[in-house]
Amino acid sequence: MANSKYEYVKSFEQSDALLPHTWIVIRVDGRGFTRFAQVHGFQKPNDEQALHLMNECATAVLEDIPDICFGYGVSDEYSFVLRKNSTLFQRRASKLVSIVVSLFSATYVMKWGRYFPGTEMQYAPSFDGRAVCYPSDTILRDYLSWRQVDCHVNNQYNTCYWSLVHSGCSPAEAQNVIKGTLADFKNELLHTRFGINYNDLPAIFRKGSLVFKRKDENIVKVENGVPIKRQKTMVVVSHEDLIKDSFWKENPSILG
Ligand code: ATP
Ligand code: ATP
Ligand code: MG
Ligand code: MG
Ligand code: MG
Ligand code: MG
Repeated sequence: MANSKYEYVKSFEQSDALLPHTWIVIRVDGRGFTRFAQVHGFQKPNDEQALHLMNECATAVLEDIPDICFGYGVSDEYSFVLRKNSTLFQRRASKLVSIVVSLFSATYVMKWGRYFPGTEMQYAPSFDGRAVCYPSDTILRDYLSWRQVDCHVNNQYNTCYWSLVHSGCSPAEAQNVIKGTLADFKNELLHTRFGINYNDLPAIFRKGSLVFKRKDENIVKVENGVPIKRQKTMVVVSHEDLIKDSFWKENPSILG
């Protein structure tokens, strides 16, 4: 295309390429989802359908962007890990973040009806996004562990809070009962007062959601008694501990 006298304005654009050879984490978080959850009647403390919808959005992100090797989601947020050596969009932060955020948001709206049949979306949801570089595998794992610990702490608090509220406490009373208490007290409260064994709650609530790719060998047909196999890469969702080594040892290709 011919140059014009206006072309110089391009030089005002600033480079935002992220540090090479570092893990890039792109985290998205629903904007004002306290209200969004209320308006759309999410169950408290955990609406399972809303979590499945988030997981569907994350699956779409992993399927569309091959350089994203892992996702971890809790509540209205999702963290996506871009491979260390990725050069996608020259590692430009604004490109990476805006594409993940818009793909995630668009999928949320597109798939809403599958998870909330009969509930009309009242207004368009939006998500914020940021990108952060983590320079080593250890620090990346610490980041993910931080999010999973947060999931646990919040879930324990919210389960106590909403059990109290659903049993007739006012929000202020419920807050007063649990304010500043330790994990053991909360577990005891759930057990003695509500008959809830915290560890029996669904893993999706306690552990959040891990999304990653797994190679599966499928038998596509049998020829003369010989099975013909094909390797297929599938995006899978699980709800397990990611803090200990075992998950990473069982799935070495994620950070490999
Ligand atoms: P911000 O715009 O600053 O992110 P926010 O209202 O979204 O504000 P968050 O700290 O992100 O605040 O908290 C998410 C809110 O959405 C919480 O109030 C949480 O209870 C609610 N929420 C998200 N997912 C679910 C769910 N699956 N079930 C019930 N509530 C949910
Ligand atoms: P990139 O991901 O780099 O942006 P792109 O394919 O989106 O790649 P653009 O330079 O953004 O490339 O160009 C937009 C493309 O979309 C062009 O091919 C343009 O013809 C097409 N397009 C956009 N809007 C319309 C429209 N209203 N009618 C017809 N074609 C359109
Ligand atoms: Mg916030
Ligand atoms: Mg939010
Ligand atoms: Mg949040
Ligand atoms: Mg374009």
